[in-house]
Amino acid sequence: MNGEPKNLMNAMPHAEEATVREAVAAGLLPGRLWLYSNYHCNLACSYCLTESGPGVPRREMPAAQMISAATEAAALGFTGLGVTGGEPFLLPHLPDTLAHMSELLPVIALSNGTVFGDHRRERLRQLADRRVTLQLSLDSADPAVNDRARGPGNFRAVVDAIPRLVELGVHVRIASTGDVADPSNPEATEAAARLCALHRSLGVPDDDHITRPVVSRGRGLDITGAVAADTDNLEPELTLTVDGAFWSPFGPTVRGGRLDTDLRVTETVSPLTVPALALLHIVEERRTGTDTTLGIR
Ligand code: SF4
Repeated sequence: MNGEPKNLMNAMPHAEEATVREAVAAGLLPGRLWLYSNYHCNLACSYCLTESGPGVPRREMPAAQMISAATEAAALGFTGLGVTGGEPFLLPHLPDTLAHMSELLPVIALSNGTVFGDHRRERLRQLADRRVTLQLSLDSADPAVNDRARGPGNFRAVVDAIPRLVELGVHVRIASTGDVADPSNPEATEAAARLCALHRSLGVPDDDHITRPVVSRGRGLDITGAVAADTDNLEPELTLTVDGAFWSPFGPTVRGGRLDTDLRVTETVSPLTVPALALLHIVEERRTGTDTTLGIR
């Protein structure tokens, strides 16, 4: 064997890495890499995209795989990480894993906010003043409205947890799912104002409050008025699960107990250049001028 083929083979991964790095730097690929840590949850919300609940298949991504993907993402020029599920904080390793990942890139972790009793909260102390944001769900200032979709007692648990986490020094954001406030509807406007007054009183400023519609995937398919989500209105945010890589965190949804694969880009998740290039290929093939409108998470 002479050295030439070997050199060419060595050059190939470098070229692929450079292509991904340039695509992220140019904004062709959004800079956040999402990881689905698990699919099980202590709740079973009526609009859940993943049909999560206590007894569903867990589809857990091991901590080592999460850290390995984060390491690759940092090397490829990604600018942030997102962790979602299921309820990620049901995984005992998660606080340590988030702390580790935050040394590589800023991380946002989504949670329903109902699992932060004394023990788990104490383990979150290590996330204070790190590049970690906890995004907690709170849909309404009215406990009955909030708990209608998310389950009894949910409102009280979240509202108790938020100021305690803020006091620990953890960066908290609030995400509200439901009708986006319609300025022509005085009732909806008043409900939105009461929700904003509530999150401010809990120590979360306006800049850390986002709203998003119910999406018609998973259990959301049964919700009247839910918004369709596909490649035309979802940003191409690379999303890894144990079942492959997807177009967006709204891709690896579950319906009737089966994983939706219509937005799966490839079953290969490692090395990260493979799903990143597969996603980039689809992005580049789409007609120019297509806009995305559902930058939800
Ligand atoms: S929407 Fe979130 S909190 Fe509700 S069941 Fe699904 S994963 Fe759990």
